Amino acid sequence: MKLTPELRLHILETAGVYAARFGIPEPRILMSTREVLEIPRHITTGRRTTAYKYYGVAYIQYNTIFLNVRKMPDTRVLEETIVHELVHMRFPYLSHGRRFRDVIRRGLGGARFKPYRKRVFGTKRR
Ligand SMILES: [Zn+2]
Repeated sequence: MKLTPELRLHILETAGVYAARFGIPEPRILMSTREVLEIPRHITTGRRTTAYKYYGVAYIQYNTIFLNVRKMPDTRVLEETIVHELVHMRFPYLSHGRRFRDVIRRGLGGARFKPYRKRVFGTKRR
């Protein structure tokens, strides 16, 4: 799809709606491979020059996602990719499996999720 200013706005709005439902802060969204190359290297390590191959990439630790808008055929794929990448943010411990796909399906259906709390490893919580 062509990345027009209108589409950019639509993407930000859509991501905002889903981020709220997933109980996570809105991520920074990169919408072209050029934008991926423009941000500091340490953020995109390992998925910098390969990003163009995918519909989307989540740089979880930096609350940043890449949406490869030009590669996408339509807004349905766009919305699914937005939700897919936000699920990586909300459920960083999940890999692509049944549970992951289940959460995507529920997310696309409008489900709301409790905010994600980062575990502090090595610290007992009472
Ligand atoms: Zn993924």
